[in-house]
Amino acid sequence: MNKNHDLFERSLEFIPGGVNSPVRAFNSVGGKPIFFKKGKGSRLWDENGKEYIDYINSWGPMILGHAHPDVIRAVQEVSENSLSFGAPTAGELQMAELLVKLVPSIEQVRLVSSGTEATMSAIRVARGFTGRDKIVKFEGCYHGHADALLVKAGSGALTFGKPSSAGVPEDVAKHTMTLPYNDNEALEEMFRKVGDRIACVIIEPVVGNMNLIVPQDDFLKLLRKLCTEFGAVLIFDEVMTGFRVALGGAQELFSVIPDMTTLGKVIGGGLPVGAFGGKKEIMQQLAPMGPVYQAGTLSGNPVAVAAGLKTLQLIQAPQFFEKLSTITSSLVERLTDAAKHEGINFCARNVGGMFGLYFSDTPPNTFDEIMASDRENFKKFFHLMLAQGVYFGPSAFEAGFVSASHDSKDIDETILAANYAFKEL
Ligand SMILES: *Cc1c(COP(=O)(O)O)cnc(C)c1O
Repeated sequence: MNKNHDLFERSLEFIPGGVNSPVRAFNSVGGKPIFFKKGKGSRLWDENGKEYIDYINSWGPMILGHAHPDVIRAVQEVSENSLSFGAPTAGELQMAELLVKLVPSIEQVRLVSSGTEATMSAIRVARGFTGRDKIVKFEGCYHGHADALLVKAGSGALTFGKPSSAGVPEDVAKHTMTLPYNDNEALEEMFRKVGDRIACVIIEPVVGNMNLIVPQDDFLKLLRKLCTEFGAVLIFDEVMTGFRVALGGAQELFSVIPDMTTLGKVIGGGLPVGAFGGKKEIMQQLAPMGPVYQAGTLSGNPVAVAAGLKTLQLIQAPQFFEKLSTITSSLVERLTDAAKHEGINFCARNVGGMFGLYFSDTPPNTFDEIMASDRENFKKFFHLMLAQGVYFGPSAFEAGFVSASHDSKDIDETILAANYAFKEL
């Protein structure tokens, strides 16, 4: 009996699509999702007892690896004193102080419970602060599932945005403009035409939601310059890149400081924590200080904050990000070599502990280039690796993640499996 399959069949009856978040359903690679019951360090075990090397790490949060003893202990200790108060706690202050210290753009910060809440709230504050309605996002970037962000470009760069999901009113979508990533000209043109009506621009400073895409040719610097010139709030959505590509996030890595930053994933260490923060004058617009309403019953939850704080403490160890980057680079370099050896059209790259695998001859820099890569080969590669106990993201449009507990033994085993997979392709 295959327990994973059995659980999935039963889940289909009670949960739409059998999953609580769509990418888990394996729709883009085919087959059935795996049900996990245990993780330790770089490894996972499914309901059949099969072991995997994990390159998803819960989509980023498990940067220390699974079940890190210090994080588990921190959670156990605070749990003893109740799971929630709905009132301020010292842990939240510690977390806020740490985020202000570590993230260059953050002067004040508010905690929420997910990345979606963080981006949704940041946009509301930016609109309240500027008194403008229009927002700008980039094609292929994901910022959670708030209505205003489930929008794709209409026909022509400056037309109204169109909902990319049923249930999003046209009246909401029309305030969102969508531009191609890494396109300096389109960006300049839009600011020239409607710059003084833009409340904010939200961007993944390194994109991890259309595989991995890196900003080119001073794209972020140009964006910073235009936002300053036209009085638009620049929001870096670092829900994925925060504490993942560098201790101070992509803003530190590229030396471009936004007005606001959204965080999530790593800052909860595996429990639900999100945050949005930035310039004090902007954050002071929030209730109870200012006119912009935002709230949360479980915001700053003590158990979640304890997991996040312990994680943030441990990743400040000397050389933490250098080591994470080195091990991730060795994974992508050795995968590239293995593919070359078999004559497969493949390349890979990483930024810190995040990586992209591409079935194309050069790393893509735009959404269109990602769409042009060989997705059939990705699917086959994914299943060949999974069968051998290597768990990559079940979609050609997701970045991968390495944790601090991955070591050269994990990489060796991965490459052994990849040699076989590339040969089979
Ligand atoms: C994951 C992600 C989100 C959404 O976070 P959730 O916690 O899933 O709501 C937003 N922005 C980016 C860049 C993300 O990677």
